[in-house]
Amino acid sequence: MTDRYAVVGNPIAHSRSPQIHTLFAAQTDQDLRYETLLAPLDAFAATVRGFIAAGGAGLNVTVPFKEQAFRLADTLTPRARAAGAVNTLSFTDGRIAGDNTDGAGLVADITHNLGTAIAARRVLLIGAGGAARGVILPLLEQQPAQLALVNRTADKAVALAQAFAGCNACDFATLAGAFDLVINATSAGLSDAELPLPPGIFATGCLAYEMVYGKQTAFLNQARSAGARCADGLGMLVEQAAEAFFVWRGIRPDTAPVLKTLRSA
Ligand code: NDP
Repeated sequence: MTDRYAVVGNPIAHSRSPQIHTLFAAQTDQDLRYETLLAPLDAFAATVRGFIAAGGAGLNVTVPFKEQAFRLADTLTPRARAAGAVNTLSFTDGRIAGDNTDGAGLVADITHNLGTAIAARRVLLIGAGGAARGVILPLLEQQPAQLALVNRTADKAVALAQAFAGCNACDFATLAGAFDLVINATSAGLSDAELPLPPGIFATGCLAYEMVYGKQTAFLNQARSAGARCADGLGMLVEQAAEAFFVWRGIRPDTAPVLKTLRSA
């Protein structure tokens, strides 16, 4: 019988996950169907339970439901617990298992696709929302020389630094130093807002990583003018999907051809 999966969110029509997972399934010869699932803003849990009752095997979860998915799960992986959010649900034996593959996706894109080591490097993470929180533990596991957090609302960065040993927080006014990897985990790029980054934060050979994808954001313009190498978050999107596919199917798809297809679209 064909196994059913979906990505649940609101809005959801724009999601590229069905295309990505359908390409993974074809590549690995897996018998599955992957759709979008629109959940009303006040009925996330009911929508998930309805999908399970209809025989669904797993869900990806996107904006704005990742925290609700965290609360709905019966079991959590350590990385989901650290993230405080769930983007991958698996349904087996009547139980809901929650995982978070966003951080693994980011690390895989940076280290594998972009060939950039995180170990022993000075890393700056901009933002303190769900995306930033989800990637801190996987970044720390790479053992960077430094992980600095900066956020517009500085208190939120300070709270994150207190929750994760091994990183330090500051606000934009006190941000200083040079970094080998600068990751923009804010949504500023969606509104073309420029971040108040001081000169000199992009070290020579720095990789500037923008989590927003498919858009030349102000952050990418700032980084390029400072001589940094630039990448957007499309690779992270494909890699977090590959990690979810592995969680569900036990098979790791080759992401390179899928990323190439999405880039050329
Ligand atoms: P949240 O809404 O949880 O957090 C938004 C963050 O952006 C906060 O830190 C907020 O700061 C900051 N921010 C928003 N506007 C500005 C601005 N004008 N100037 C400075 N900071 C700003 O969003 P998420 O953390 O869930 O997502 C962040 C981004 O990451 C989104 O754009 C999303 O599309 C992208 N993303 C990409 C993924 C991928 O696979 N490529 C995966 C997950 C997310 P403050 O606290 O001060 O409000």
